[in-house]
Amino acid sequence: MTASPAPPRIVIVGGGAGGLELATRLGDRLGRRGRAQVTLIDKARAHLWKPLLHEVAAGSMDLGQHELDYLAQAHWHHFRYLVGEMVDLDRERREVEIAPFIDEDGVEVTPRHRFPYDVLVMAVGGVTNDFGTPGAAPFAVMLDTPGEAARFHRRLVNACMRAQSQTEPLRPEQLQVAIIGAGATGVELAAELHKTTRELVAYGLDRIDPEKDIRLTVIEAADRILPALPKRISEATQKLLAERRIQVLTGARVAEVTASGVRLADGRQIPAELVVWAAGVKAPPFLRDLGGLETNRLNQLVVGANLQTTRDPAVFALGDCASCPWLGTEYRVPPRAQAAHQQASHLIRELPRYLGGETPRPYQYRDFGSLVSLGRHSTVGTLMGNLIGGSILIEGLFARFMYVSLYKMHEYALHGFSKVALDTLARMITRRTEPQVKLH
Ligand SMILES: Cc1cc2nc3c(=O)[nH]c(=O)nc-3n(C[C@H](O)[C@H](O)[C@H](O)COP(=O)(O)OP(=O)(O)OC[C@H]3O[C@@H](n4cnc5c(N)ncnc54)[C@H](O)[C@@H]3O)c2cc1C
Repeated sequence: MTASPAPPRIVIVGGGAGGLELATRLGDRLGRRGRAQVTLIDKARAHLWKPLLHEVAAGSMDLGQHELDYLAQAHWHHFRYLVGEMVDLDRERREVEIAPFIDEDGVEVTPRHRFPYDVLVMAVGGVTNDFGTPGAAPFAVMLDTPGEAARFHRRLVNACMRAQSQTEPLRPEQLQVAIIGAGATGVELAAELHKTTRELVAYGLDRIDPEKDIRLTVIEAADRILPALPKRISEATQKLLAERRIQVLTGARVAEVTASGVRLADGRQIPAELVVWAAGVKAPPFLRDLGGLETNRLNQLVVGANLQTTRDPAVFALGDCASCPWLGTEYRVPPRAQAAHQQASHLIRELPRYLGGETPRPYQYRDFGSLVSLGRHSTVGTLMGNLIGGSILIEGLFARFMYVSLYKMHEYALHGFSKVALDTLARMITRRTEPQVKLH
């Protein structure tokens, strides 16, 4: 009698918008029946869908209610989870190298080790690109992780408490927030902060007058806000920001971030106690020359349309860390949650074919449009993008519904219908019994 061959080892690095959906559904499809051993490696212990980070930063979302433990998800969906940061790749031996995981007390939890694979999927996402601007790293907050978003929120609450308790007049930069980058993240954060700072102050911080004392400034180098989206959305959004008296500076290049604000290239100083850098994305620097794989100037792994890296068919990449052709156009697929979601769905179908010896089919990006949320009641965006050979502008409740459904689709891919319905109901109930803004 011959022993049956060991199941192929699929290793996914990065459990974000794309990687966690892939691990979950491959676990259900292949891991459950022992047809493959699926392993997810992530440097974090819990997952949060990244487009929610600006709400965590502003305090309108409780991180604890939306974080998902990797260990529990792995248990429920038949994959293995390893905590640790991937730092290197040995393509000859087909092993990834993982750095030691050190806890907040400086104690080693897992040692440096190597982990073998037959198929590797890189899904490590992106990080904020500060383009080497002086002062950006020490003085600006980047919204790359839930920890950073929560840190920004604590600094915001502390700034309000400090202003409330001091007897002398406010310094010029006090309670001023500068947001660098008027892409979707910067604009949504400004609108969310406008709402939550007012709610925060209403909890007894009576020495602060939000209209007079709190100023939000969005700084954008391009000549309009939301430069990557159609002009009609920029104009509609600009109007909504103006109604909230959020200052918008366009055509303004940041030369330096300092402890007391932002200096622009034309010499203007924007006083700010809190600075958020929300402009530009690149892939994590460790990808450059990782195992000799091809990368572009943003450190993204270059992949063909079937999501295989150009120099190694056993290594796939998806999401923000991949530079993938957008078939039928001269562009590359943009770094968006909907792209990561679609690419994960594509690999769920194609990886079993690849393991069966077939060539994976090409992935076609479908642009379903873009939506920008300016709080609970104002959402604008385009729908369908190039699917209908153009786009239609949508606003109001319908746009809000479409915006929320993006996250619901992600939750649905991770949990299925009944858990999403129950979770949504539970959150609706707790929202009624808790403050609308996080106060600590
Ligand atoms: C504030 C904000 C708002 C956004 N809003 C929107 C939006 O409204 N709509 C939209 O379409 N897109 C939005 N995006 C972009 C969207 O979040 C990303 O395109 C999407 O999350 C990319 O998914 P991903 O799977 O490639 O990576 P991510 O979701 O970024 O996940 C990457 C994962 O890899 C892990 N990781 C990283 N490095 C390592 C390593 N070395 N070893 C192990 N694990 C590692 C991380 O911990 C993380 O879990 C937003 C992004 C931000 C930051």
